[in-house]
Amino acid sequence: MPASHSLTIGVMGGTFDPIHYGHLVAAEEAMTGLGLDEVVFVPSAQPPHKPPGDVSCAQHRYVMAILATTGNRRFTVSPVELGRPGPSYTIDTIDELSGAYGPHVELRLITGLDALLEIRTWREYRRLLAGCRIIAVTRPGKDVSALTELTLQLGDLGGQLELFPVTALAISASDIRRRVRQGQSIRYLVPDAVLAYIEKHGLYRADNAVASLCACPQLGCLEAAGGEKVICRYGPVKESLHQQGPATTARAEGEAVPSKRPVEDEPGRTR
Ligand code: NAP
Repeated sequence: MPASHSLTIGVMGGTFDPIHYGHLVAAEEAMTGLGLDEVVFVPSAQPPHKPPGDVSCAQHRYVMAILATTGNRRFTVSPVELGRPGPSYTIDTIDELSGAYGPHVELRLITGLDALLEIRTWREYRRLLAGCRIIAVTRPGKDVSALTELTLQLGDLGGQLELFPVTALAISASDIRRRVRQGQSIRYLVPDAVLAYIEKHGLYRADNAVASLCACPQLGCLEAAGGEKVICRYGPVKESLHQQGPATTARAEGEAVPSKRPVEDEPGRTR
């Protein structure tokens, strides 16, 4: 880490439709194994390579990420991509988060190996790689020859890619959606709070097209989806762990995610 960086934060980017224990274990193992100070989960509001109708409402995915990470004071969730219209390009997210966290924080993107292998199709991927190390999480034993090849093709920038095998990535979001659709249990694949949320809002059920496909990027759509409002439990970057230390934040006291509190986040506000 350069001398100017006093904190290293993992940016866990993904669609998280829904977030599951595979993601959580990956974040935890990467954080501890790579000496990251904390991990901020960034649900992709509109994944650039997926038709909008193919992913669930960004608000639902964001709230499930909050529910899943409550209890780990080194995990946060950012709505940074929910405030931007159009496709959620990672370069914009890293730019925005870098500006918000400031120069003393080094950001490292953490994402799935399969997603990373497509990085040459991402917007401004060279600038992204030049400024941000990327950690590709994958199952132990998976064939990673494609990553080796990609690293070589990227030349100097290839050094910015790092493979990190983690336990538990056999769980997949698509399998969870399929199970719900077919009426099978997803207990122990997702945290109980996420399971309860999925059931409450009828997500992924074959008969609930509205909740699953509203694809609304604006804050407040949860009201339409189920009458529930949820706020991000983390304050602005300035007030968070990154500058004040863990003991001073609400999450350090194990604050539960409120289910009936007003929306305090403004669209577009960076966390
Ligand atoms: P995806 O195609 O839905 O995911 C590919 C595979 O990687 C899936 O098996 C997925 O597992 C897994 N995965 C995704 N994120 C993960 C994570 N953080 N930890 C562990 N496994 C993960 O990919 P995606 O979620 O849409 O995109 C991944 C990231 O790449 C996002 O941050 C996205 O914004 C970024 N991206 C950027 C661009 C761009 O800037 N142009 C283009 C594409 C992707 P599950 O299905 O179980 O989640």
